[in-house]
Amino acid sequence: MTNTKPLIVITGASSGFGAEDAKLFNAAGYPMLLLGRRDEKIRDLPLNFDNIMVAAVDVTDQEALADAIHAAEAKYGETDLLINNAGVMLLGNVQRQDPKEWQTMLDTNVMGVLNGTQIVLPAMVKRHHGTIINMSSIAGFKAFANHAAYVASKFGVHGLSETIRQEVANDNVRISLVAPGAGETELLTHVTDAAALKDYQAWKETMGGLTLDPKYVAQTVKFIYDMPQDVNVREIDLAATRQDS
Ligand code: NDP
Repeated sequence: MTNTKPLIVITGASSGFGAEDAKLFNAAGYPMLLLGRRDEKIRDLPLNFDNIMVAAVDVTDQEALADAIHAAEAKYGETDLLINNAGVMLLGNVQRQDPKEWQTMLDTNVMGVLNGTQIVLPAMVKRHHGTIINMSSIAGFKAFANHAAYVASKFGVHGLSETIRQEVANDNVRISLVAPGAGETELLTHVTDAAALKDYQAWKETMGGLTLDPKYVAQTVKFIYDMPQDVNVREIDLAATRQDS
């Protein structure tokens, strides 16, 4: 049976929000390219892999990212939705944090989004159709202690998204943004600063210990995509009701 639905590309599909996005769009029958450095984790997801390509790609490597996207497009047609979801949050106090951690966040969270965007955007502009949804954060418009470089990266995602949205609006291409609050994903597992992690956990306890279920972030992403092409839901911010900041 030929698949009539267009290609969706998801970066950071191996866990958290990206994995939930993959489940939702898979259930809806979309062909997908799922990307992450840990491709084995993607292959372990409970998905129907008939219409899925998986590749181990680091979003900071634009050439590898382009190769994977072009291979998927050769099979499924041009990308209609790119979800720039891959990201890292390495909490730390700027007075102590290793600058390498700042670089990792800026390279992944900002350069990764720009890399993916540049690969798919020209064809979207040409055919006057396509959507890019960038995963930012509440930390993309609001500061949090111990988040200096992360906040810088996510303010960057907000800024570049709105800039590109304006640039391609008249070409009927949608650039949209989802800005979640704290969510139950693997994001915190990479933090190396024990004090910053302790502060974050204490803050989480003020919300009853449980934050946003990733499935609602995926539903938000799909809601944005499901709107007609001539409607751009420019940004959705969502957080656990009990998150007070
Ligand atoms: P997870 O850690 O669960 O998922 C992050 C995903 O990004 C993984 O699939 C990881 O895959 C991928 N990734 C990280 N670095 C790279 C890289 N260099 N190249 C390719 N893939 C990479 O966290 P979340 O699901 O929470 O994070 C998803 C997005 O949501 C991020 O942009 C994050 O900043 C944002 N966000 C998260 C919030 C939260 O509280 N959870 C709140 C607000 C925003 P792999 O390691 O296999 O490469």
